Amino acid sequence: MNAVTQAANLLAHAKQVCILTGAGVSAESGIPTFRDKQTGLWESYRAEELASIDGFLAQPRFVWQWYQWRRNLIKDKRPNAAHRALAQWQSSAATLGQRVTLISQNVDDLHEQAGSTVHKLHGSIWHNHCIDCGAPYEKNARQLDVQALIACPACGGYVRPSVVWFGEGLPAQPWRIAEQAATGCDVFLSIGTSSVVYPAAGLVSLAKSCGAKVIEVNPNPSDLTIVDIQLAYKAGEVLPKLVTEMTKLLEKLKSG
Ligand code: NAD
Ligand code: ZN
Repeated sequence: MNAVTQAANLLAHAKQVCILTGAGVSAESGIPTFRDKQTGLWESYRAEELASIDGFLAQPRFVWQWYQWRRNLIKDKRPNAAHRALAQWQSSAATLGQRVTLISQNVDDLHEQAGSTVHKLHGSIWHNHCIDCGAPYEKNARQLDVQALIACPACGGYVRPSVVWFGEGLPAQPWRIAEQAATGCDVFLSIGTSSVVYPAAGLVSLAKSCGAKVIEVNPNPSDLTIVDIQLAYKAGEVLPKLVTEMTKLLEKLKSG
């Protein structure tokens, strides 16, 4: 049996599935991952240096402009076959008798565009808030020509993108849902993540320690030793096949 059929089989017998996606799921839509080399003005920086409160405080205008550049880069990007396959799976999950929870580390909105319900662990690049009082500042998140820093109307503090930076805690509600889904799932499906950014990367071992099987989709498999089935393909190539095979098996199991 090939690995895709093996994975489809495992998933068809699962009542609860927890899916975790990372930047790799959006790579085929043309959005660079964090570990891809930076280009242009930013090429001598590592993303980790810019995506932190210290990086922002050291050179706020530069970091703001980096986010405006990233927003410009992703504004026209559309979901790929991987996002679409996951959305289709989610929409038929209830009829198939499955509970499918989708957790993402991505700050883009491609899962939402594809029609998925997604719990976002690292915030959204399409929102802003004040670094001092925390007030949301929605006006300019899509005004991509604003290169100057924006001052919070309430307190004058700098406005920053509402993404979780290195060193910051994760939003409580999505994290609680993620922990519950990882603890309760029969299969944990990890897609397009290098599994090095904690605490998100810890979800897979949490799931494993609670008895789940682990499937990984990544053309450059991570160093995770706890993976049961490795699908070393691009997400957009393998997920439509996986979801189709699994759905057929589930329908057969239901009718038989
Ligand atoms: P990462 O950049 O560390 O890892 C991406 C992984 O995706 C790599 O292991 C790579 O081998 C794999 N990959 C590349 N192309 C793929 C494909 N076509 N199909 C499947 N896998 C593929 O990203 P990460 O693990 O998500 O962690 C880094 C952090 O970067 C996250 O916290 C995230 O918030 C942030 N980030 C988000 C976006 C986005 O929203 N699209 C983009 C870049 C970074
Ligand atoms: Zn403020």
